[in-house]
Amino acid sequence: MATLRIYQDSRAVGTCRSCGAAIEWAELTTGARHPFELPIKPIRAQQSLVDGRTIEDVETRDSPTHFARCPDAKSWRRQPAGPSSPETSRRGGGVSNR
Ligand SMILES: [Zn+2]
Repeated sequence: MATLRIYQDSRAVGTCRSCGAAIEWAELTTGARHPFELPIKPIRAQQSLVDGRTIEDVETRDSPTHFARCPDAKSWRRQPAGPSSPETSRRGGGVSNR
């Protein structure tokens, strides 16, 4: 379980380009945009003292990210998933990580 912090005013319903599912985009406080399963269920909201935007906390248990559900999620992820997926590390012929 993880808690993600999103900007409430950045939420926008959209469509996954990979599988066509209805999703909701939200900008994380880190600046990254992230797709969530509908509906997003914030557990709390607070106002940022920095810029006045409303920040919502969501738990991935209640509001899973679409990354976890998308059948095409593999094609989204650029970073290798780790030792459990030898195929992806073999595929990246042009990448050298020193
Ligand atoms: Zn998808």
